[in-house]
Amino acid sequence: MPPNSAVIIGAGIGGLATAGLLARQGVQVTVIEKNDEVGGRAGSLALDGFRWDVGPSWYLMPEAFDRFFALMGTSTEAELNLVTLDPGYRMFFEGEAPMDIPHGATELEQLFESVEPGAGTQIRDYLRSSAEMYQLALQQYLYTNFTSPRSLLSRKMLSRLPLLGMSLRRFVNRQFQDHRLRKILQYPAVFLSSQPKRIPALYHLMSHTDLTLGVQYPLGGFQEVVAALYRLAVAEGVQFRLGQEVTEIYVDDEGVQGVKMVNRQGIPSGQLANVVISNADIQHTEMKLLPPKFRSYNQSYFAQRDPGISAVLVLLGVDGKLPTLAHHNLLMSRDWDADFAAVFDNPGSLRASKSIYVSKPSASDQTVAPKGCENLFVLIPVAPNTSIGHGNAYRQEESPIVRTIASAAVRQIGEWANIPDLVDRVILRRTIGPQDFEERYHSWLGGALGPAHTLGQSAFFRGTNISRRVKGLLYVGGTTVPGVGVPMCLISAENVLTRLGMPTTT
Ligand SMILES: Cc1cc2nc3c(=O)[nH]c(=O)nc-3n(C[C@H](O)[C@H](O)[C@H](O)COP(=O)(O)OP(=O)(O)OC[C@H]3O[C@@H](n4cnc5c(N)ncnc54)[C@H](O)[C@@H]3O)c2cc1C
Repeated sequence: MPPNSAVIIGAGIGGLATAGLLARQGVQVTVIEKNDEVGGRAGSLALDGFRWDVGPSWYLMPEAFDRFFALMGTSTEAELNLVTLDPGYRMFFEGEAPMDIPHGATELEQLFESVEPGAGTQIRDYLRSSAEMYQLALQQYLYTNFTSPRSLLSRKMLSRLPLLGMSLRRFVNRQFQDHRLRKILQYPAVFLSSQPKRIPALYHLMSHTDLTLGVQYPLGGFQEVVAALYRLAVAEGVQFRLGQEVTEIYVDDEGVQGVKMVNRQGIPSGQLANVVISNADIQHTEMKLLPPKFRSYNQSYFAQRDPGISAVLVLLGVDGKLPTLAHHNLLMSRDWDADFAAVFDNPGSLRASKSIYVSKPSASDQTVAPKGCENLFVLIPVAPNTSIGHGNAYRQEESPIVRTIASAAVRQIGEWANIPDLVDRVILRRTIGPQDFEERYHSWLGGALGPAHTLGQSAFFRGTNISRRVKGLLYVGGTTVPGVGVPMCLISAENVLTRLGMPTTT
């Protein structure tokens, strides 16, 4: 029986999307969010005429957005103003000339061929395989709750089994020799909250999204995506209670009954509902909001999981233009296997990767920086370790380790992108660290993205979106199935409705 009422814990992408879809089906929905804004990790910050997206900035998998908006009775065109980026992004290789990744198959093949003879044909084959895998994923293990083994046993799926046993690193290295081409094809591992040697080769499907479908940008930034989800949910009658932290999920032997929450003044209240859908990190939901006897996962389960990566984020307001940077820029260290290993293979590492991402949305958007200035967003991968500390975006002072990591990254961008005076031209600088992720979003160990997409944490191994112990308790968002990223969270929302036996057709 579909529920009459639902409480959603958290107004991240998954929470907002689920709220809209459920309300559209006639369910009375209340979203309870601890922060004063909606969007969760897809947040934004505005200061002195600059505005930065402090979470997602790559608009990939456009079909997932199209499908979601259609389910809400609207369209991407009506809700967002998308522009296609060309080049899709610029790669900076330590000590070598930068390389633009063009939009378009012919241009890409020419680029690969110019770097390595034969690689033009090879990339065509690679992307054909990537496209097939992407379609298979959409059909068989993204929009599904794995309630039937049929999808797993299809002939197409079985023919791809070798891609489960091999790492993305090995898969790419077997086909391409030049380290720059390898890096272009392996970097998506970081989008999956991991590193190339840890994720299975089936994720070469990611290259279909950036290299074939292309990279788009919603004018105004990702805050426009969040605004659209919020607007649609409100239009369907969803109630939002912001600045209210859920402290307990009420459960009895019949199942879920509702939630207890507390506001900023410490005043408690409650909200009853037939179902509770938690968009909070699954580790927080299970370990902090449920009594032990109702937990589906315990401490030892989480101890064996790979929490994924965290990040230090640096938000810069820069005086003057920065023509050597494109909209999206990836700076790749020469020996990145060792670089990643030093950061991610040692639990408790305080080191930062030198393979960093720099976004310059002011390249495409006049609304995000004052005239004659640029806004930079820098993502530096670090271990999920709150000892690295916090930044100064939400507090007065930043932690010393975050400050050191941020300063080194600014110097690195200046050197690699040939901007010798970058440090002096920075007129605004704010930072965010792992401790901020933990405090603001209750993310597990201060992780930025959520559990890594290793083989043991992908598809049905990633878990399930329904509690095994509590009737009426479900999960949505990047820490559950299907996984990390804005499109995946939209899919996750649709899967919740399917799980509740509710129609989702357009
Ligand atoms: C730096 C960064 C860069 C990224 N880049 C990209 C990108 O380029 N493209 C892309 O597609 N994806 C990207 N991602 C991933 C994407 O942003 C996330 O996967 C997605 O936003 C996560 O959404 P979610 O639904 O899991 O909810 P979350 O964002 O995790 O939100 C959960 C919400 O629950 C709230 N909450 C938690 N506990 C409680 C409680 N007890 N009571 C009340 N509320 C609670 C939190 O405050 C939060 O608002 C990036 C993420 C980060 C951090």
